[in-house]
Amino acid sequence: MQDLLCDPDDLIVDSRHSWMNRADPRQRAWLEVSPAALQSNARNLIGRLVKGCSLMAVVKADGYGHGAVTVAKASIDGGATSLGVATLQEGIELRQAGLQTPILVLGNITDAEDLRACLHWHLMPTINDLTQLLLCESLAKDTGRKFDLQLKFDTGMTRLGYDVNKIPRLIETFNDLTEINLTGIYSHLAMANVDNGNGKANSVTEIQQKKFDFVLREFASRDKGICRHLANSAGTLRNDSLHYDMVRVGLALYGHNPLQSSPQHLDLKPALAVKAKVTMVKDVPSGVGVSYGHQFYTKRKSRLAVVGIGYADGISRALSGKISALFKGRFVPQVGSITMDQLVLDATQCPELRVGSVVTMLGEDGGKCITPQSWSDLTGSIPWEVLCGFKHRLPRLVV
Ligand SMILES: *Cc1c(COP(=O)(O)O)cnc(C)c1O
Repeated sequence: MQDLLCDPDDLIVDSRHSWMNRADPRQRAWLEVSPAALQSNARNLIGRLVKGCSLMAVVKADGYGHGAVTVAKASIDGGATSLGVATLQEGIELRQAGLQTPILVLGNITDAEDLRACLHWHLMPTINDLTQLLLCESLAKDTGRKFDLQLKFDTGMTRLGYDVNKIPRLIETFNDLTEINLTGIYSHLAMANVDNGNGKANSVTEIQQKKFDFVLREFASRDKGICRHLANSAGTLRNDSLHYDMVRVGLALYGHNPLQSSPQHLDLKPALAVKAKVTMVKDVPSGVGVSYGHQFYTKRKSRLAVVGIGYADGISRALSGKISALFKGRFVPQVGSITMDQLVLDATQCPELRVGSVVTMLGEDGGKCITPQSWSDLTGSIPWEVLCGFKHRLPRLVV
């Protein structure tokens, strides 16, 4: 995928896709990303943070499918002061795009060459064990440059993170290090987005927070300049006491609230729209089977509209017959199996739909909105996965 400016006379085209120079990116199906929405969300979120707390924009997985560089720049314009990525490669891409903001690599980097690349590109690795820490010390000695890095602790996520019970050994090791610049201490919440009537989710978050506070007390003597952070989007919106010095926000930055019940009014703007064109319209009699497997039969004389987007673009086949498209603020039901490259709408009630009409599969159109949550609820997925699911074949327009 690539970013393109939406002015039709002035499309910025990624050179890796020179074929695009000859074709309108809106020929068939595409993504539209709004930096204005991202910037406004960043601003809005910062306005909710406790005093002194800053915003890390989490732009991993190509900015949740929105384009990492676009998201990073818009978030920084909105006040974000650091960026979070999952992989070394994602970090390098941002540096190569000229971004100089502090970048934390959230994933685990264990290979010496990869850690050396972190040092070279000024990317902060996340340290999860002593071996990594010692490796960083020796790499820094080799190059004569202090290694900025962050420590992650496992407070209950049971994924990455240093064992909270082994902190004395870590501190002992730390005392011998001279080339390490510890810029942050963090942990990750497992249940912050889970609404749970019996309070179990809340108590898990509480226990994680207590463990995190314990870690911070252990490191209190070296607290100078160390950024403490714990909350993802859900933690940020759920409870101010989870904010500490910084919050790491992904989903909410993209305009989606991870909490089912929002405590306060939240004005988040969805930053992504998925659009596609009608490529054929046909009138059919009642009783006609539609698409592979004839999963749908027309129940009346119908007008069907074929749209050029399918599961190879990121609209899961599991959504077949369960979703709608939006056309000028009206919902048009999708019928029959979603195929690799195309899907069919029942446009009987929407006679204005014609070849070349643009429909919105996800996002806002005419005052209505189709959310990633509405899709993920139908398939047992989550909004995060929906957003990351749009594929390379969809050109990305920055609008
Ligand atoms: C992805 C990620 C986040 C952001 O999570 P959201 O729920 O999208 O806000 C924060 N911290 C870490 C460690 C992550 O991996």
